[in-house]
Amino acid sequence: MTHVIQASDVEAQGHLVNALLDSGEAVRPEVKRIMAAHGFTATTIQPWYPLRDLLRCLQDIQTHVGRFSLRAIGQQVPRYTTFPPHITSFETALFLVDEAYRMNHRGPGAIGGYHHEPVDGHAARMRCDNPYPCEFDQGLLEALHVRFARPGSLLRITHGPGGCRALGDSACTYQLKW
Ligand SMILES: [Zn+2]
Repeated sequence: MTHVIQASDVEAQGHLVNALLDSGEAVRPEVKRIMAAHGFTATTIQPWYPLRDLLRCLQDIQTHVGRFSLRAIGQQVPRYTTFPPHITSFETALFLVDEAYRMNHRGPGAIGGYHHEPVDGHAARMRCDNPYPCEFDQGLLEALHVRFARPGSLLRITHGPGGCRALGDSACTYQLKW
């Protein structure tokens, strides 16, 4: 997945590491071992981390533990990251997730993003060409829905055609219905 990062100086906020450590996946000895090997432990949280280190850690978790772990980690992200204050619905969250992504990363270089296209009031397409893993982003979208949608609303995510980052492509497109 690192092939799409065009800058080595991009940093991600330490909140993302908190999400990783609090994902519940961290209690798995294998996940803990991988994170510690990458320098991520609860006692060493820093305000910013090199994005490439975080991505390598996620890649190792995917390889050695499985994609389901990445989804669980992605689901924790909205709890720990800074979002624009004016989000009042899932629809608004989808519009602003790209802005939130930029607020939580810094440094020069292209990092892709979250490109939202509304279909109607309860359906949308989201194209992700950021360097995070496919399963991680699906978990993140699920958690945004839980956080901002009306109670009782259900989200269905269908992976669209045209490539998947898990297969080495540069982007994934998701059809969202809720
Ligand atoms: Zn994908």
